[in-house]
Amino acid sequence: LKSSLGPKLYLALTHYPVVNKEGECIASAVTPIDLHDMARAARTYGARKLYVITPLVDQQALVGRILAHWTQGAGAAYNPARRQALELVRLVADLAAAEDQIAARHGLAPITVATCARRIDGCRGYSEMRRRLADGRPHLIIFGTAWGLAPNLLSGADYVLAPVQGATDYNHLSVRSAAAVILDRLTGVASDRR
Ligand code: SAM
Repeated sequence: LKSSLGPKLYLALTHYPVVNKEGECIASAVTPIDLHDMARAARTYGARKLYVITPLVDQQALVGRILAHWTQGAGAAYNPARRQALELVRLVADLAAAEDQIAARHGLAPITVATCARRIDGCRGYSEMRRRLADGRPHLIIFGTAWGLAPNLLSGADYVLAPVQGATDYNHLSVRSAAAVILDRLTGVASDRR
């Protein structure tokens, strides 16, 4: 796979700890379309795994059923492109488990990079993160759900990425759209660079 030659880039889709509208820490429900779309984006841009994080047993069962259908079941034969994407998905109970798996693979803990729709003090721009990704260390880009990543996860990450800003003040991208834009900025080949 070409992705094994590029940056050691990993993604995490976090369902806990995230915050609700009131700012309380919650575990959110898995949205199946997030898995499909983020897995396709991960595969397109050469991310090595997409970790889906949920400690909830019923949500783990749902993710397990989706993955089994599209990677081993009738869906795998029906749509091999979707299988190739969903094969990148790993289900884990918490962020530490994702970090452990990456560390075991590379012998080096990943640099963690949180994302947020709001501008956080000290956040890093995309050209800086592109350069950092090229340094050979594994990097784990962490995405939230619901009203975003919990404060302790944002403050505990090594870096926070600058928010994606559109052309208006409407700031409500879905996580899967934000992930696609961010992946393109971090690893995409811009048409003016071809
Ligand atoms: N109000 C939340 C926040 O401040 O992050 C929005 C949550 S959004 C529905 C879910 C996730 O999508 C976020 O945790 C982040 O990972 C990603 N996201 C959404 N909009 C983003 C943006 N403009 N820039 C960067 N990430 C974004």
